[in-house]
Amino acid sequence: MIVVAQAIAALLLLGLPMQVRLDPDLGISEALAADRLARVTNIRYDLAFTIPAARTQPVAGRALIRFVLKGTSDPLVLDYQPDRAGILRSVEANGRETSVRQVNGHIIIPPEVLREGENSLALEFNAGDGPLNRNDEFLYTIFVPARAHQAFPCFDQPDLKARWSLALDVPEGWQALGNGAELERQNAGGRTRVRFAGTQPVSTYLFAFAAGKFAVEQAERNGRTFRMFHRETDAAKVARNRDAIFDLHAGALAWLEDFTAIPYAFGKFDFLLVPAFQFGGMEHPGSIFYNANGLLLDESATQDQMLGRASLIAHETAHMWFGDLVTMRWFSDVWMKEVFANHMAAKIVNPAFPAINHDLRYLVDYFPPAYAVDRTAGTNEIRQPLANLSEAGTLYGAIIYQKAPIVMRQLETLVGSDGFRDGLRDYLKMYAFGNASWQELIAILDDRTPEDLAAWSHSWVEERGRPIVTTELAIANGRIRRLAFSQRDPEPKRGLVWNQRIKVAIGGKETKLVPVQLNARRVEVTEARGLPAHFVLPNGGGIAYGEFHLDRASLNWLMANLPSIEDELTRGSAWVTLWDSVLIGDVKAAAFLDLAIGALRVETNELNINRLLSYVREAYWRHTPPPARRPLARRLEPVLQAGLSGASSSSLKSVWFSALRDVADTPATIMWRTRVWKQEEKVPGLTLAELDYIRLAQDLAVRNAAGAKSILDQQYANIKNPDRKAQFEFVRPAISGDPKEREAWFMSLADVANRRREPWVLEGLRYLHHPLRADASEKYLEPSLLLVREIQRTGDIFFPKRWMDATLSGYQSVSAAATVREFVDGLPPEYPERLRRIILSSADDLFRASRIGRSR
Ligand SMILES: [Zn+2]
Repeated sequence: MIVVAQAIAALLLLGLPMQVRLDPDLGISEALAADRLARVTNIRYDLAFTIPAARTQPVAGRALIRFVLKGTSDPLVLDYQPDRAGILRSVEANGRETSVRQVNGHIIIPPEVLREGENSLALEFNAGDGPLNRNDEFLYTIFVPARAHQAFPCFDQPDLKARWSLALDVPEGWQALGNGAELERQNAGGRTRVRFAGTQPVSTYLFAFAAGKFAVEQAERNGRTFRMFHRETDAAKVARNRDAIFDLHAGALAWLEDFTAIPYAFGKFDFLLVPAFQFGGMEHPGSIFYNANGLLLDESATQDQMLGRASLIAHETAHMWFGDLVTMRWFSDVWMKEVFANHMAAKIVNPAFPAINHDLRYLVDYFPPAYAVDRTAGTNEIRQPLANLSEAGTLYGAIIYQKAPIVMRQLETLVGSDGFRDGLRDYLKMYAFGNASWQELIAILDDRTPEDLAAWSHSWVEERGRPIVTTELAIANGRIRRLAFSQRDPEPKRGLVWNQRIKVAIGGKETKLVPVQLNARRVEVTEARGLPAHFVLPNGGGIAYGEFHLDRASLNWLMANLPSIEDELTRGSAWVTLWDSVLIGDVKAAAFLDLAIGALRVETNELNINRLLSYVREAYWRHTPPPARRPLARRLEPVLQAGLSGASSSSLKSVWFSALRDVADTPATIMWRTRVWKQEEKVPGLTLAELDYIRLAQDLAVRNAAGAKSILDQQYANIKNPDRKAQFEFVRPAISGDPKEREAWFMSLADVANRRREPWVLEGLRYLHHPLRADASEKYLEPSLLLVREIQRTGDIFFPKRWMDATLSGYQSVSAAATVREFVDGLPPEYPERLRRIILSSADDLFRASRIGRSR
């Protein structure tokens, strides 16, 4: 194969005239990255930034970039694409002032100033503001996936790892942190200059710094110092959470050192809690950034939130090995680092929560969000091709974060857990401080199993969608006569088979789990013959992935008896499967709601209650026609009230309370909530925090409750935390009872400056498009769709999908579905395919709801 390819290449070369070298495209193309990877090695960045107190003043920067170069006949391309705040002042190449061309977000260094071997470039510039997240009292960088060059000149691709040295000049009184340990700090003239130690080889997207008015907490664990930078003003909240946060980090770190057999590689360990951070966390080595809300929990925090926090911390800590130490070669494999981080997080967190059914938790955390994308026409393969890093942001989503971990667990069952761990150890050791692709890992693991991992990887990783699995069940005298599963590909021309090992629940007097390997189009389960059975549930063990069409007998039995199933995992799995059946059209939403309302009276498992409540909310808002909601609320609210007063823990109370707050529709319940908001009435056993009161006030306002305006005025006056106050002020017009104010708020989003704080925008959108406001706001759907493309260009990686989700989640009407459908159908061929898919996947529930509504 190689010989043939070389021969063809040689023929082509002979036949063609010398190519004229073209200017590089915008962004970092695969071709540019490959050229540089072949020529540039041993990169060291020496960076200095001067950060003024006022965020309107530019951040001045200097970069000394040293590297070893191979081949000087061609120019060398640096990346630098700042917004209007940025400007390149001067370039010295190897000590000589050099004039350069700037084209398409790149700096072209002419060949004549370069030399074979060691080179140095010294650049003076103002930094672009885009990825610096500048606020009045602080800033922090987010350079993932390829945004470092929007701030400063660099080789912005993940496989050109570099050693980084950093100096920050900040206003006196500000704290500063970077990837390396602080080496020295000098105060002079109202300024503080901080110098950080050089790093290990690290990719550009992982380089980071932050500076600002932060408080710092410090703790020792297992002989290591951990520091937490934050801006929380509620001292009791910090005190309540800090030990747990440090413990969770230390525990995760120790577990990972043991599992990988490789010590933590990046020296010091700090983290920063950012208010209104755009992600849950970002894994900069030595300096993790978190969303403050995810770590500093309120007293009313649910079990789910505590687990979520532990998982988030374990996830980011796992990245120190999976992603930071060994990094994907190209962002097409970005899912690998995410899946490993999630997979490890699940392993790490489980022992710390022994009271929790972790198989059930895995099921409810991963399957519903993965299905929410994978059942849609907009779904994508886990491993997506990527021609240019400028599109890397569109790769992220539930397929990477939720489906890929399920697939990885399938891989672990195929390879065996010891073989899997040893394979990972080999992989980390072999590629430490470097880069590796998915195929390189599969090659290591393939040696450890008789299964054909390449074929397995093709179906699960390289192709999109999920198998449609149908149960064939014949029962005679209460016992199974024949049980078989057939699978087919939703894209018939493709004809894929998804090989997976599953555990089928067979429910008779008691429920039995039967292991089955689905490795062919039809698999007969001979060992099930003769077993007593009321129902058969393919995903009974919580590991089978697909669109499961149950047989009629099982479906009927479950629709009558599901709550009576003894095993909580099987119950949870049955709920996930039945909800799919609602969306497929096998089960009516109203029948599902009847069953669910009955089940809520008896279900005791918090994870199942949580999942059920979220399906009930979805069925209530999305699949119940507006005139039918009030009568339904009259049935539902007493069940939620009973759940709230009967809940055994404050975390469970909190789950019920938020469902009740969300659904509340009858005058009595709205009055009750008003009294709770006014603190005239307490919810026994539940302590409400500032954020709870904010949500109560906002939810009352969106219902046009009596005195809505004064409730919002009063709430604004009550907020103590300045960041939350600013967010409330921003979101408020989107909730207003005055359509003109809402319109002005929506129009303001056309300006990128008003979209900078993405969580604020999303919160506003959810109120603007609240189901109760759907009729008035439907006119914003088209302009919102038109904005998506610009949002992808200007926003962070999750923003386009979240923008679409927040925009469409309140609608069920045929006309809203038609608006989206017409928009998608009318897209020009050059419209980015991945964005089109994002719109389709966000619109899927709306399409289904409007279809189901029509046929009701
Ligand atoms: Zn991650």
